[in-house]
Amino acid sequence: MLNVTLLNEHGIPPNAVQKELNTAYERDYHFKDGRVLYSMCNSPPEIAKKAHIKFIEANLSDAKIYEGTSHLEKCVISMVGSILHYKNESSGHITSGGTEANITSLWISRNITHKREVILPVNSHYSVVTACDILGLKPVYANLNSQYQIDYTEVERKINKNTCCVVANAGNTELGIIDPVKELSAICIENKILLHVDACYGGFIFPFMEKIGYNIPTFDFRLDGVTTISCDPHKFGRSTMGAGGILVRNEKMYDVIKIPSPYLSLREQTSVTGGRCSASVAAAYASMRKFGWEGYIKMVKLCLRKTEYVCKRISELDLELAVKPPATVIGIKFRAGVREKIIVDLQKNNWIVSKGEHPQTIRIVIMPHLSWKHLESFLADFENILKKRKLL
Ligand code: PLP
Repeated sequence: MLNVTLLNEHGIPPNAVQKELNTAYERDYHFKDGRVLYSMCNSPPEIAKKAHIKFIEANLSDAKIYEGTSHLEKCVISMVGSILHYKNESSGHITSGGTEANITSLWISRNITHKREVILPVNSHYSVVTACDILGLKPVYANLNSQYQIDYTEVERKINKNTCCVVANAGNTELGIIDPVKELSAICIENKILLHVDACYGGFIFPFMEKIGYNIPTFDFRLDGVTTISCDPHKFGRSTMGAGGILVRNEKMYDVIKIPSPYLSLREQTSVTGGRCSASVAAAYASMRKFGWEGYIKMVKLCLRKTEYVCKRISELDLELAVKPPATVIGIKFRAGVREKIIVDLQKNNWIVSKGEHPQTIRIVIMPHLSWKHLESFLADFENILKKRKLL
């Protein structure tokens, strides 16, 4: 165990520092061990890790000094934009993660409309609530239909003269649900309000599923009412941590959040953060160039096959799934109380899963770092735990 101490008087030798770092590293879970079954982040490929190290000093708030990194960011946005059908006049930037991307979207929406209510589904990621809190916006919750999608008729009823925007999910955190964005788009156009699509998780999955013939409801810029989309390279995009993405339908939308920064090479900033860790931009670029459509399709297909397999095994135990997973998030229904006990038992066996609340589930996310062997081993332990608790 490392002691937390005050800053030491004298520096210590690198090998001593390394030893301390190793101790800390060994206390963490690592994706390669396959024990973390709920994270939406991942283990990036070597080329992305190398890119991250190479660009470790870059800071895109000073983009004129970092012209090369700035070019990479434009390329990443253009690649993400192309899978989400963005237009010539569209734009975007890489953020520290999905949370900052969602905050940026609501910041733009508030400043364009000067209104202060945001309608969001009750199963939104908590970052949307964080965004409302920071920006002084009132979250107005809309309930879900039987498929755990936002009830768009309720959204329509809740729109009023104070509504600034509606938030929809394209792959929500709890179950990977896509909200009825087409209907919401029409409603938002009619009421002249903005529509943000949180595709932080789904933005790097559904376009590839659509390409190989899955019937994916449209949720991107092909719908005229969609004004902003968040989509994270550091999730299924396989970048290193610190790469969220925000795309805006029209570059002019940025005008409302421009803040002067006279002492930097860029005289105006549109980022929530000042200095921007930009190594992850290079990593996102490296991953996207490495994979291309073909690589992502292969990866998504494999994760979908694994998801289907885990669902089949779970159904064979007579357990109930919340929904047939739209992508790679599996929600197994359990009563609260029982569910917490199972989670603790799993943790004792070194398996880390999480919970969903709409409905109450044990939640598992199949990501590229989970091998067939990891999943078999998990399923065996899961079944044993359930038997011991006499739940089977
Ligand atoms: N939106 C959705 C749908 C998410 O699933 C997440 C995180 O899992 C976020 C936003 C927030 O992303 P981050 O953790 O990168 O801030």
